[in-house]
Amino acid sequence: MNGECDGKCDSCSEANGCTDPRKEKYEEEQRLKLKMSRIKRKIAVISGKGGVGKSTVTVNLAMAFAMHGYVNRVGILDADITGPCVPKMIGLHGQRLQASPAGIFPALGPMGIKVVSMDFLLPSEEAPVIWRGPLKMRAISQFLSDIVWGELEFLFIDLPPGTGDEPLSIMQLIPEMDGVVIVTIASEVSQIVVKKAVTFSRKLGIPVIGVIENMSGFVCPKCGAEIDIFKVGGGKKIADDLSVPFLGRIPIDPEICRDSDNGVPFITEHADSSATKAFTEIVKKIERFLERKERLESPPKPSVPE
Ligand code: ADP
Repeated sequence: MNGECDGKCDSCSEANGCTDPRKEKYEEEQRLKLKMSRIKRKIAVISGKGGVGKSTVTVNLAMAFAMHGYVNRVGILDADITGPCVPKMIGLHGQRLQASPAGIFPALGPMGIKVVSMDFLLPSEEAPVIWRGPLKMRAISQFLSDIVWGELEFLFIDLPPGTGDEPLSIMQLIPEMDGVVIVTIASEVSQIVVKKAVTFSRKLGIPVIGVIENMSGFVCPKCGAEIDIFKVGGGKKIADDLSVPFLGRIPIDPEICRDSDNGVPFITEHADSSATKAFTEIVKKIERFLERKERLESPPKPSVPE
């Protein structure tokens, strides 16, 4: 270690023989940065609380993008440490990741979606994640820096529910996140947590792409009557109140639940359903958001007359 270590080993003449733990951390961060730089757009999916459909939305959005021109170019990082369920929803439950000297390779889902989940690290279905506190984050950071995603257009990150330490630490691990999609249901209780989620993203300086109201209304398959189980419109109202975009409403559809239990992405099986149509509209809005963001970040160069 150099006498006055600034934690930047690249510029240190004594880095070669250095045994300071900061060196290992620095190298890990550099590895993660390099691997993440090959992913064009990184989008986190968050919810103020659990059970509102965050993982369902992540899987179906990833699938929708893969189907709309990005086959083999989409990844999902299931970082919901406490209850990772993306592999089950996408038909990859029980898989193990392949490791090689180059790193760890994601599992391959439908349409070439690359999936990495904390679920793949668990020895058996019953085993909970037992890592705790700082050690847990250290293990996750090390794990992420070893993943070989390759070139991707989109990575969707399914964060742990809530706005506490865990989602915060994971967000901070991933460099240059493009934006956050917030999933909620319409009830007033959920609106309070959406407010927290927006504050959370703003504090981290990550733009809010918008709010999705999930489980929004239910059309009875028997009589066709529309029933507002969790109210309707709360997502739009809270988005307007907080001046963030509203991305759309996804209705309750019993097939969504059935398909995720069977490991089949809903939108590939039910192309004509209102929920799939809602997902398609949401994809368009996300694309517009990203295009606008990219235009603002790199405005077109003025043309120079010859
Ligand atoms: P979270 O990730 O927020 O904890 P999940 O995505 O795991 O929530 O969803 C919880 C349960 O609700 C799952 O069984 C899922 O299939 C179901 N679900 C989610 N969205 C819908 C919907 N729009 N219609 C019907 N069931 C849904």
